[in-house]
Amino acid sequence: MLTAVKLKACKTCGSNFSPWSSTQTVCGRVCAQKLVKVEKVAEKAKDRATRESQKTIPQLIAEAQIEFNKFIRLRDQLANRPCISSGRTLDWSGNNVDAGHYRSTGAASHLRFDENNCHAQSKHDNQWKAGNVVGYRVGLIQRIGIEAVEALESNNEVVPWDRDTLRQIKVIYRSKTRALRKEQS
Ligand SMILES: [Zn+2]
Repeated sequence: MLTAVKLKACKTCGSNFSPWSSTQTVCGRVCAQKLVKVEKVAEKAKDRATRESQKTIPQLIAEAQIEFNKFIRLRDQLANRPCISSGRTLDWSGNNVDAGHYRSTGAASHLRFDENNCHAQSKHDNQWKAGNVVGYRVGLIQRIGIEAVEALESNNEVVPWDRDTLRQIKVIYRSKTRALRKEQS
């Protein structure tokens, strides 16, 4: 008497095989190892997606700000710009340059990702002279013109940063930085 051999399709390579147990899903050792690898990658991606979805708004703001600030510093370094508030040559070696906001991120969060509102500034001015706002205004007028400065000063729109926007800002500034680097090389 012949019993029909029930064939199964291998989960990895798709070829038909005859399983020795009902729980066997792959045709052999090689495909079993491949399957484990694929499942590990999928699991990692899922973990990453879960972590991303659980990020808070302040976390996403911080991540986007890092990318934005990096772009601002590179933009001004490549253009050989001096410190926005003191006019002094910036020291790009080491960690002496900040991306300094004219209207602070604390007081004007809606302008935290505004390229007119943020410029390379010496750490000395940004951190020890409380931003040197008076000098900043003088430098800013030279750089972007009085009209743009006044537009910043009178801008009090409310921007409720949402998760998707913040994620996009992070991606956009990361790629803008990459594009600047490419242009340069
Ligand atoms: Zn297989």
